[in-house]
Amino acid sequence: HRTDYNKYYEINRKAARFFFRKLTEGPNPGYAYLRKRGLKDNTIRKFGLGYAPDSWNALMNHLEKEGVTTQDMLKLGLIQQGRKGYYDKFRNRVIFPIINTAGKVIGFGGRALGDVQPKYLNSSESDIFLKKNNLYALNITKKDISSEDQVLMVEGYMDVISLYQNGIHNVTASLGTALTENQGRLISRYTKNVVLSYDADNAGINAAMRGIDIIRKAECDVRVLQINDGKDPDEFVRKNGKEAFLELIRNAVPATDFRLSVLRRGFDFKSDNQVLEYIRRCVPVMEQLSPVEQDIYIRKLSEEFGISEYAIAGEIRADSGKQA
Ligand code: ATP
Ligand code: MN
Ligand code: MN
Ligand code: MN
Repeated sequence: HRTDYNKYYEINRKAARFFFRKLTEGPNPGYAYLRKRGLKDNTIRKFGLGYAPDSWNALMNHLEKEGVTTQDMLKLGLIQQGRKGYYDKFRNRVIFPIINTAGKVIGFGGRALGDVQPKYLNSSESDIFLKKNNLYALNITKKDISSEDQVLMVEGYMDVISLYQNGIHNVTASLGTALTENQGRLISRYTKNVVLSYDADNAGINAAMRGIDIIRKAECDVRVLQINDGKDPDEFVRKNGKEAFLELIRNAVPATDFRLSVLRRGFDFKSDNQVLEYIRRCVPVMEQLSPVEQDIYIRKLSEEFGISEYAIAGEIRADSGKQA
């Protein structure tokens, strides 16, 4: 049988309204937390942020009064079943409603206010909430992504919101998982120019390495932006402002430059062996390029290491031959 999606979207909307009221109608720890992180009232309103009270059943009681069944709350992952009965999934957390491009509330992210683990909780997957098919805040930012003809892909909800508040609107994020092919296709409907803007740590570098392949499959051009102050776009833009972040966007490097620079890590090139090893590692990256692009990178490597272009091209041919 077919699920009555609209019924579930409506319940999620009721939950979102409840969380929003709890955040905005009086003093509460969620509001204090978001203010401490620099968010303004109109940003909170724009993204419909909320607060899940520090209670085992505040949302459950509210939805019950609105006529929502326990079964439907369970299905949406708003409550959970414990030994002593049902209880709210999100407690004492700031709430990020996740809204699809059709404007339907499909799920929620919830951030702990302090160092409580897990830092983020998301609604559980269901046929209403498929993380792999959706991107955060695209309902708000898709217009700007189209008109700028460029998207910044960031890791976190707070990165999206913080950039947005600072005047950079062409931004989105995956929903706490690695980028998927479906998300690549989704974004390619709005622009073919993707700038990966992940955290400045190893996890961020690895996410960018994987993201490049995903975005390329969606036939988009990929650049990688490198955060050089603070640990993520949120921290950077709060500290340095819009103009400095726009400068980082202008300095974002093509995917191939990024890959080759990551491959360089750990080499000191004090011996010819190191140079040879590095160039051999570059070969599989260069094999994926068009002939003209290959030519450009062959020249760059040749100039840098004083090895003939002919010899580098030979390594690529030899390797391609092995695979054929
Ligand atoms: P903050 O600035 O609030 O500390 P962040 O967005 O910088 O958060 P990261 O740790 O960089 O957080 O994680 C990026 C994204 O990954 C988060 O926005 C969230 O969607 C997801 N995430 C992080 N930690 C978890 C977790 N423990 N469980 C599920 N998802 C998580
Ligand atoms: Mn991170
Ligand atoms: Mn952060
Ligand atoms: Mn982060």
